Amino acid sequence: MHDVVIVGAGPIGLFLACELGLAGCSVLVLEREAEIRSPWKADPLGMRGLSAASVEAFHRRGMLHELGVDDSGADEPTAPRGVGHFAGMMLDPADVDVAALPFRLPSPAADGVMTNLEAVETVLSERAAKLGVDVRRGVTVSAIAQDGEGVVARAGGNEYPARWLVGCDGGRSTVRRLAGFDFVGTEPQFTGYAMVADIADPEKLSPGFNLTPTGMYLRTPAEGHVGMMECDGGAFDRSQQPSREHLQAVLRRVSGTDVTLNDVHLASSFTDRAKQATTYRQGRVLLAGDAAHIHSPLGAQGLNLGIGDAVNLGWKLAATVHGRAPDGLLDTYTRERHPVGAWALDWTRAQVAVMRPDPHAQAIQRLVRDLLGTRDGTTYVFDKTSGSSIRYDLGNEHPLIGRSAPDFRLEDGTRLGDLMHDGRGVALDFSTDRRLQTSARAWETRITYASGPARNDLGTGTVLVRPDGIVAWTGDRTPDRESFERAATRWFGSPAF
Ligand SMILES: Cc1cc2nc3c(=O)[nH]c(=O)nc-3n(C[C@H](O)[C@H](O)[C@H](O)COP(=O)(O)OP(=O)(O)OC[C@H]3O[C@@H](n4cnc5c(N)ncnc54)[C@H](O)[C@@H]3O)c2cc1C
Repeated sequence: MHDVVIVGAGPIGLFLACELGLAGCSVLVLEREAEIRSPWKADPLGMRGLSAASVEAFHRRGMLHELGVDDSGADEPTAPRGVGHFAGMMLDPADVDVAALPFRLPSPAADGVMTNLEAVETVLSERAAKLGVDVRRGVTVSAIAQDGEGVVARAGGNEYPARWLVGCDGGRSTVRRLAGFDFVGTEPQFTGYAMVADIADPEKLSPGFNLTPTGMYLRTPAEGHVGMMECDGGAFDRSQQPSREHLQAVLRRVSGTDVTLNDVHLASSFTDRAKQATTYRQGRVLLAGDAAHIHSPLGAQGLNLGIGDAVNLGWKLAATVHGRAPDGLLDTYTRERHPVGAWALDWTRAQVAVMRPDPHAQAIQRLVRDLLGTRDGTTYVFDKTSGSSIRYDLGNEHPLIGRSAPDFRLEDGTRLGDLMHDGRGVALDFSTDRRLQTSARAWETRITYASGPARNDLGTGTVLVRPDGIVAWTGDRTPDRESFERAATRWFGSPAF
């Protein structure tokens, strides 16, 4: 009997497994694929953009270096390196107004990075192994059963009992179907394709994103790597592998050229079907990542959304497993993450709406292009896609509460991110007389206390940060200790445990 069985060792299942393992839970991960390596996960098809919020999640667990990101960090606030695009319209990072982002502090995790699924899954698998997580590959879960005491996953004649089960088994989630989650949303407008091909006359295709009267195509710098979208109402039968002839015909239609594909090495199709589970929990079964929400890859949100789910769920489920979760803590997972998922679905729908090949959509496209060309427009998109605008409603007006904590840095150089490697909460006390120390001591197994002046305290005196990096409470330089203790009890449970 494990504490938690996770179905699916994709990036989200593995991230969650690491969070639970770090918190001392016994975790079993069941994965259908026998091997971690696959050409779908390596460059160029496996290339993925991690947002600043996701990079921050890796930073807070001391994994940036493994991802190949310089973890020394800047000392001055810098403009972001990339903003990406909206509906194929590229944005210039130099147009981001950093001064308009009041909670942006210098940090090694202030920016997004490009990586690939293989790199992310390798880093997480190695860490999971170090944390004692049991990952079993080549196991396809085909049935689950739950009662008030636990859950059993069944695969290939074997049974895997646990107290909790989390479906991280991707967009076509078996767990979601078996547990009877409602999955609602909108049907597709287009079929998309990603391929690596031998192109006879690549000069006929313009580099970068190209919006055309029939859809869109993208030619990346990687040889033969092309993405395309055709507004066919999602008509392509996705149970079939797209043939060379079909891909060539689509590429000719969307590019308006007579480009020729000599050969296709790898190709897959996807749509912009946008659906979300109405709740992320049914009894002892939970969902995270693509299992909980699907949408088109426009704007590179899916992986980031799922990492946000895993970070939010991990510590809450661990506290529940250990019997010290305050009442209702686990249900805040759906309450906090469902609105973020709904936003991501809408963000991708908005992009599809302006890319449609009809005169009305194209009129809106011209208008949006004008807006994106402004400093405010670029800053708005960066704020949204970097994850920095996410704010959970924790019932408090203070603008920092419910947001991801800025990477506060104490005078001795210690960053908030450095204090979070063990997965506990953090109480930061910027006073010189350690006013919160006595109160924080009552939760010392769950909250790390650190004090001292900050290089930039953004006008706060004290901050309580949850294990997922979200600000739960703030106080001034003479903090109200009772108020801190109420907040600590609300998120970390009674000090008696
Ligand atoms: C072309 C494209 C480009 C994208 N680009 C980006 C990007 O730049 N940034 C971004 O944030 N997102 C991007 N995404 C989305 C992102 O790749 C996904 O959201 C992310 O991989 C989802 O991770 P996951 O772990 O939830 O699911 P998956 O990666 O699908 O992993 C699910 C795992 O569960 C396993 N599994 C399934 N069923 C079972 C079963 N019954 N039993 C056991 N195991 C099972 C599977 O084998 C798999 O390993 C892109 C998607 C596409 C298609």
